[in-house]
Amino acid sequence: MLKRIGLTRGDALAILALLIVAAIGYAMTIATARHASDSGRLYAVVRVDGEFYAALPLNEDSALDVNGHNVLRVSGGAVFMESADCPDKLCVRRGRVSSDGQRIVCLPNRVSISVETQTRLPGVSERAFDGASAK
Ligand SMILES: [Zn+2]
Repeated sequence: MLKRIGLTRGDALAILALLIVAAIGYAMTIATARHASDSGRLYAVVRVDGEFYAALPLNEDSALDVNGHNVLRVSGGAVFMESADCPDKLCVRRGRVSSDGQRIVCLPNRVSISVETQTRLPGVSERAFDGASAK
């Protein structure tokens, strides 16, 4: 069958190798482009009792009071718990977080802050993000 279209086994393997390299290159281009667009849209997503409370874009400095118990602040592309009335203060000592997937948790007040990209939040509408950034 290979002989009929004038290709040797070596030619066929070379073509196959080229196709694989091209496919990998294409996949990497897509992955890189997606990463670039996501990295500009990192949010500090605040949840209280597991329920969505607010999302603050990490590229805008802001502060948020959570139910009068916790104050978190976004500054310089990172988020941290500025103050809290919990007894352990573990959330305050956690320090600054800025990478996708990092979390700050205040167990006594049932507040969690996680750094997430908007695209990974199917349950949160665009409106919720707009509302949070307008605060
Ligand atoms: Zn705490």
